[in-house]
Amino acid sequence: MTKTILITGAAGFIGSEFLRQTLENTDYNVIALDCITYASDEGYMWRLFKDIPKERYDVSQQRLENLSPYWVKKLNLQNIDYVYHFAAESHVDNSNANGKPFIDSNILGTYSLVEYLRKNHPELKCFFHVSTDEVYGPSFNPNYADETFNLISHYKETDRLAPTSYYAVSKASAEMIVQSAGKVHGFPYVITRCANNFGNTQHNEKLIPKFIEKVVRGESFPLYGKGEQIREWVSSTRHCECLFALTELFGVEVNSGDIYNIGGYALTNKELMDKILGILEISINDVKFDSTFDRPGHDLAYGIDSSKLDTLVGEYTMETFEKEFRNTVLYYQDKDPITELIDYE
Ligand code: NAD
Repeated sequence: MTKTILITGAAGFIGSEFLRQTLENTDYNVIALDCITYASDEGYMWRLFKDIPKERYDVSQQRLENLSPYWVKKLNLQNIDYVYHFAAESHVDNSNANGKPFIDSNILGTYSLVEYLRKNHPELKCFFHVSTDEVYGPSFNPNYADETFNLISHYKETDRLAPTSYYAVSKASAEMIVQSAGKVHGFPYVITRCANNFGNTQHNEKLIPKFIEKVVRGESFPLYGKGEQIREWVSSTRHCECLFALTELFGVEVNSGDIYNIGGYALTNKELMDKILGILEISINDVKFDSTFDRPGHDLAYGIDSSKLDTLVGEYTMETFEKEFRNTVLYYQDKDPITELIDYE
């Protein structure tokens, strides 16, 4: 029988990529849930549904925190086989300025979704909880340099969580709610902790689209510190492919309660900018930087060990990374600006 999935945050950056792959590569029925915030691209979501038969999907615009047992009764699709929980407030700088929306959406929202599902959907096979490598906290610690003088720890799934920003704290809390439901109520789940994503349709407040927009328009770019922060980068396409692969393997090699890191390639922000400029064929001497003080509590590096996932789904090759990165840069080169905010996550 055709499976039905619920995608939360389906109008956001990664949720909409997951929706695109679902509609293109599977015959799943889809319930797309999103409250539509400033970060959403609602038009893109609707364009994805344009040629899809109406009986194959439902769209629900509401906040996770307000879910009620009556919610799904309004929809055509009633049973849910898998949930992919992307919906969240996701902008770190915003979280440090005002953490409340992050507590509401990411913690209360996850709690109310999990409670709703476990009480009303006994048929649910697995809840895929989309988390972040930021839950581990900074992985740069000069006091713990290893014998190769590598200052970056590559955290494994079993390592302790030590998040720094309100964003990361809210994501770590959400994970623990899901784990608690698993332990206490037998709620079936898998958690993924992914590195920084790049790809199309990301809001212009984030580093890659914002940097390209500023450079293309000849405007100055506010640089935190010296751009030495290290992040791993992976495409939103690869991120979603991994979620599909884990779904395929669920009940075989993947079990409820499993956690998987999804890593990419590490670059300093400065290296990332040089890479973008190389693709755009713009000299660094032609870029105006506004050097700003680094933000308080800005984690210098994140690092994760993805070997557990890679043995199951195959490695993310450098060749694929380079190709996808180039396509992303060219996509934003032609895109109109949206906002004036900036983030380095
Ligand atoms: P995004 O901000 O682009 O999209 C999030 C979507 O969730 C938005 O459309 C928003 O309207 C919706 N949403 C927010 N609060 C909601 C609520 N209370 N109820 C219903 N909908 C709500 O975020 P993204 O970059 O696509 O990230 C998706 C998920 O992936 C998040 O959980 C994030 O923590 C995680 N993640 C992101 C990255 C990254 O680099 N972007 C990396 C690792 C993990």
